[in-house]
Order: sequence, then C-alpha cells, then structure tokens
Amino acid sequence: MFEYCMPGKIFFGTDCIKQHGAQLKKLGKKACLVTGKNSAKQNGSLQDMQSALQENGVDYVVFDQVSSNPSVELVREAAGLVRAARADMVVGIGGGSPLDAAKAIAILAANEISDADLFSGVYQKPVLPVVAVPTTAGTGSEVTQYSILTNKSAESKTSIASEAIFPRLAFVDARYTAKLPLSVTIHTAIDALSHAVEGYLAVKASPVSSLFAARSIQILGECLPRLRQEINPALREKLLYASLLAGIVIAHTGTTAVHSLGYSLTYFKNIDHGRANGLLLYEFLRFIAGQQPAKVEEVVGLLGCKDLAEVGCLLDSLLGERDRLAAGEIECFAGKALTTKNIQNTLIQPTQRELENILRNSLPTI
Ligand code: NAP
Ligand code: ZN
Repeated sequence: MFEYCMPGKIFFGTDCIKQHGAQLKKLGKKACLVTGKNSAKQNGSLQDMQSALQENGVDYVVFDQVSSNPSVELVREAAGLVRAARADMVVGIGGGSPLDAAKAIAILAANEISDADLFSGVYQKPVLPVVAVPTTAGTGSEVTQYSILTNKSAESKTSIASEAIFPRLAFVDARYTAKLPLSVTIHTAIDALSHAVEGYLAVKASPVSSLFAARSIQILGECLPRLRQEINPALREKLLYASLLAGIVIAHTGTTAVHSLGYSLTYFKNIDHGRANGLLLYEFLRFIAGQQPAKVEEVVGLLGCKDLAEVGCLLDSLLGERDRLAAGEIECFAGKALTTKNIQNTLIQPTQRELENILRNSLPTI
C-alpha cells in the first residue's frame, strides 16, 4: 500500500513565470515577496515575479532580509510585516532559506501562536497560500511541505511539516541558477543527492517515491562529476530537475539519519546544509550496506559508479578538505540526532554508538 500526493502546480522551464504569471491572481490580491539580501535582485527572479504580479493586477511588498538557515525570530518579524501590509499570499524567491522562511511566514501571518504551536504542524486559521521560486538546485523546498528553521531553544534546526505550506505554485527556471557560485552549486547538488538517496533507503519509501529517487540519482550521477569543469545552462537545468524530483521524493519519504546528524553540523559548526549531508553520506551508505548491501548496490549502480569506494571518491573530489570535529561534539551530535523522528525512518536504525561512528569516520577530530 502507498499514498502519493503532490498538491501544487509545477511550472518548469525558461520564462515560466512570464508564461504562467496569470496563475498568481487566483491566489490573492497582495503578495509579500520573501527573498535573501542580494541574489534574487541579481539573478532576475525578483524582477520577473514583480512584472508578473503587476501585469496581473496583484499588489506586493518585499521582505528581503532572509539569511541562510532562517530563525524563528526572523520569520516572526516578517509575519508582522505581512499582517501590517494586509498581504494575502506569500511568495518565496531564493534558495531553501527564503523558501522555507516564506512557508513559516505564511503560517504566522494568519496565526499568532507560540513556537511550540508553530512546530506542531496544525493551525486554527487558514495558512496564506505559498508560491515558490527556487534559485538554487538542491533543497526541493518548492515541492515539499517542510519549513526548516533555526530553533535556538532546541539548539538545532527544527522542521515544520504541514500540508498547509505545500507551495500552491512552483516556478522552476534554471536561468536563475546561472551564476550560482561553485561552492553553492556543489553543496546544493549534494543536498539533492542526499534527498534522493535517503528517500530511496527510507522506511517510508514507496514504489512511486523510488521511481523519482532512482531517476534523480541517475541524473545526479551524470552531473556531479562535471561540476568542477565548465557548467553550462543545460547542466544547470538538469541539476534543477534532479533537485525537483528529489524534493518530490522527500515530500513522501522524509529524510533519515544523514539529515538528523547534519542539522548539528549546521547549527553548531556553521557548515552549509548540503555540505553537512555530503560529509556524512558515504559513511551512512557504508553503515546501511552492512545489513542491506543489495539496496546500497542499487544506489551505486544508479550513480554510474562501479563500487561504493568510487562514490566516496566522487564525494571527496567535490567536498575538498573535510571540516573537523572536537571529541565531545561527536557524542553530543549523535545524542541529538538520536532523538529525531528521521532516525526511525532510516532503513537500519542506528544506535548512539553507530551514529558516533558515522560522525567519527566522516569528519576528522581536532
Ligand atoms: P540558501 O541558504 O537559501 O542560500 C545560500 C546562499 O546562496 C545565499 O548566500 C544566497 O544569497 C545564495 N544564492 C541563492 N540563490 C542564488 C543564485 N541564484 N545566484 C547566486 N547566489 C544565490 O541555501 P540552500 O542550500 O538553497 O538552502 C538551505 C536551507 O534550505 C537550509 O535552511 C535547509 O535546512 C533548507 N532545506 C529545506 C528543505 C525543505 O524541504 N524545505 C530541504 C532541504 C533543505 P542571498 O541570501 O542573497 O539570496
Ligand atoms: Zn536537505
């Protein structure tokens, strides 16, 4: 038995905002555009959205203060702006950070609630409709019901999961990713790979989610070895497509131990989200291969590698010198990961000791 549901409309391809901008007026009369500080202004995505809104008679305000790994405080501030402006829809434009912020803002603009209620995923008043325009190729947030926020009280990143924040519209145009810096390109592509691989190896995997995951892994297997060479527009589009597929995967399967451990690397060590996953992925696959070798061999084959060691070499070539951990951090991060739901979603559920081993073997100690 399985379930499959993708409630939003996806428009993929060059100029999709321009061509399908009329969809926006079905969602509201005034939008709040949520972006990071710079990139949306530079890559044309903000301008395209502003033009589409103007053409379709939708008014807007802009909140352009989202930083990476947005915090609960930041989304509360923006929700105040949305209420004051009487906006009735929220458009996230950017990497995963502005997209996730937009989703949380859409909840908080309609519901003045505590942090605990925000993370509960259940809201009394209807959440404002969300539109997503990804400008990185990695998180798949344009097609997920998740918003991941920096949560100081939990000293971690905490997920909101609610169908109410599934973007109603996703405009996915690879032109916006044309000038992504190499490090962001690599880290976000590895995030997409991590989503597809974790989804393929998740307890909640289904025949349909695995179709999407397998295709995403295959495409990334073709793209990843080329990232340190010249990246052309066709390659950018393939990365964005693979990331979209991987987003559809985790919308159904959730993530697993890699993301659970990765959140501490981001929260405490300031390591980019995708990089954090990439640092852990090879050791995670080795761990799963201990009990499910055939499943891991499938992943290796889909990537076009001859064995798991070759996957390790590919990741090493992309990640460069590895970040370091202090001895005490290993125990602490493993303990934090063990309390998350994603651990139960891992095909072979790791113990504290096994999580510590994954960390120890992935990041050299100081
Ligand atoms: P990000 O934090 O959104 O952005 C990273 C950097 O890339 C920022 O400096 C940003 O600049 C820049 N940037 C974005 N688009 C650009 C472009 N087209 N050209 C040049 N620079 C660009 O990074 P991300 O990896 O995409 O997102 C990470 C976040 O997503 C994390 O918080 C993670 O937890 C979350 N996530 C969510 C899901 C989900 O399902 N909801 C899944 C995975 C990860 P500006 O600040 O100027 O825009
Ligand atoms: Zn991720």
